[in-house]
Order: sequence, then C-alpha cells, then structure tokens
Amino acid sequence: MTLHIMYNHKCPKCGAYYIPYDEDVPCPNCGYVEKDRVDFIPRAVESLKFNYEAYGSYIPFAWWISSLGDYIMDILFSMFQDYEDSGAEDFSKFAREFLSKINWRDNKYMEEHIYNIALRVYEELEKGKESTTL
Ligand SMILES: [Zn+2]
Repeated sequence: MTLHIMYNHKCPKCGAYYIPYDEDVPCPNCGYVEKDRVDFIPRAVESLKFNYEAYGSYIPFAWWISSLGDYIMDILFSMFQDYEDSGAEDFSKFAREFLSKINWRDNKYMEEHIYNIALRVYEELEKGKESTTL
C-alpha cells in the first residue's frame, strides 16, 4: 500500500501544471496568484512518512503515476532517499543538485517549483522528528 496524491492542476491563466500549496504560492510560470489552494505539503509529508515507516525507505516498491501530485511525489521519494543515503548535511544544496540533473524539457519552471516544495516538505519532516524525540 502507498499513499497517492490524486491531484491535477493547471494555472487558469497560462495553463502551466503546478501545485498551489500554502497560502501565497504563485504560478511558477507566469506569477499569477489564484484563490484555489490544496494541502499538498501535509499530504506529501504523510506519504513519505508512510513509506519510511512501512518499508524503511522513502521509495515505495511500486508507484503508478496517475496525476501531477504523484509525479511530484515520485521525484520527492527519490530525492529524500538519495539524501539519506548520501549522508549530505545541507538539504537545500542537495535538492538543488538533484533537480538540476532532471531533464525538464519545456517545463523548466518546474525545477524551481519542486525545489520550493521539497524545502517545505523537508521543514515539516524535521519538525516531526523533533517532536517525537522530545
Ligand atoms: Zn500561470
């Protein structure tokens, strides 16, 4: 079992795929800020934690990508697992390098967008770790 994020979203102005997470995140392609919001960050954190607790790895055994949310999760699973395996200490630097290796073709705006999502997810995961060790 895995926790999927069945979520697709396109900017109503420019048609770019992206996730309007948090309160004020604009379209990474055109900068438009829409009212529509989704609780992507807590759901992403939950999905990553679920894999880690169930399988001892952020990467699930099978992952069928059927939405934009799942596509982004697929990248985050590999990123967080590689980060853990690498023993690196600076997550933001690691994430930057990880994403720069992906061929974004016409969706270059996605690189910065997923980078920002990864930092938010990392922040939340770290908060979770602190509260369980106290
Ligand atoms: Zn847009």
